[in-house]
Amino acid sequence: MKKNITFIIVLFAIGLSALLGIMLGKYSSRFLTVESANASCSVTMAEIIASAQGDVYNMAEISDDYVEPKTYYLVIYSVDGETIIKPTFETVPNDLKDEQENAALQNTAWEVFTTLIPAQDRQMVVQYNVFTDGYSNTLAAVDQNHANPAQWILEIDLADLEDKDAFLFTLIHEYAHLLTLNSTQAIPDQELLDDPMNLALLRSKAAACPNYFTGNSCSYADSYMHVFYTRFWKDINADWEKIDVLQYGTEDFIPYYEGLYSFYKSHQDQFVDDYATTHPAEDIAESFTYFVFSPKPLGNSIKEQKIAFFYEYPELIQLRENILSGACALNK
Ligand SMILES: [Zn+2]
Repeated sequence: MKKNITFIIVLFAIGLSALLGIMLGKYSSRFLTVESANASCSVTMAEIIASAQGDVYNMAEISDDYVEPKTYYLVIYSVDGETIIKPTFETVPNDLKDEQENAALQNTAWEVFTTLIPAQDRQMVVQYNVFTDGYSNTLAAVDQNHANPAQWILEIDLADLEDKDAFLFTLIHEYAHLLTLNSTQAIPDQELLDDPMNLALLRSKAAACPNYFTGNSCSYADSYMHVFYTRFWKDINADWEKIDVLQYGTEDFIPYYEGLYSFYKSHQDQFVDDYATTHPAEDIAESFTYFVFSPKPLGNSIKEQKIAFFYEYPELIQLRENILSGACALNK
């Protein structure tokens, strides 16, 4: 139940405008090697995927008395290569002082990220925010740096490290946003970042973008996002947009969530899970996470094609290999 809300809130946190009311293979032989090298981790991979099961938009599973927890930022770090430096401490209630002062745990959480993602693949991360909204709810998030939209911030909830599988799944999902929205993939847009609720500005930016417009940036023609969108979303986008608009100008998101859930139910062969129907950017992030933690799909359904999509990029096969090695190392 909580988890439903969790994923929804993660979307808020990533700063993709979807919920903010704006419009938002090659089969390498090396892969076989890593699959066998990581054979002992195959159970772990299955458990990580299993941790993400469950329909987030199935309103029947959400309790009526659910109250959204408050989020507190505890410490803000600058990132200097492998290390985190210059902590600044936010004002927090007394009962969070222990977590705020737990530099060891904050470092451990950071090291999970650096163990999973190789240094050359996380150059865009310049800041690390430690926050908490209590156990579950939001596990991690990414956001653009408002001072420089080519740079990104990683945010981790210190209360969620123990739920290892769900934490790893979420970290890779969040990383997938960095992978698909960073400045080599889409043109950072300071104007939109400064004025995200300006619909006229947004529409003019979208109209001027010759490729897929992510909601806050124009993607390059050869970007993962544009190719993914062109292949998998062109035919369903018009129907999806009719649901997407339900979130604008209202406080009541239930019709929007129900719309997405029914969209998922009628397109189950196309999405790895119902959260992927949120937005093309969420779909590519979820599909990437399944690509990392699942065996290569054997079938040819559209959702399997979405997972297989990433095998067309040798650099992503390599990245998957590195992430799995990191996950195995963390598991020891
Ligand atoms: Zn996301």
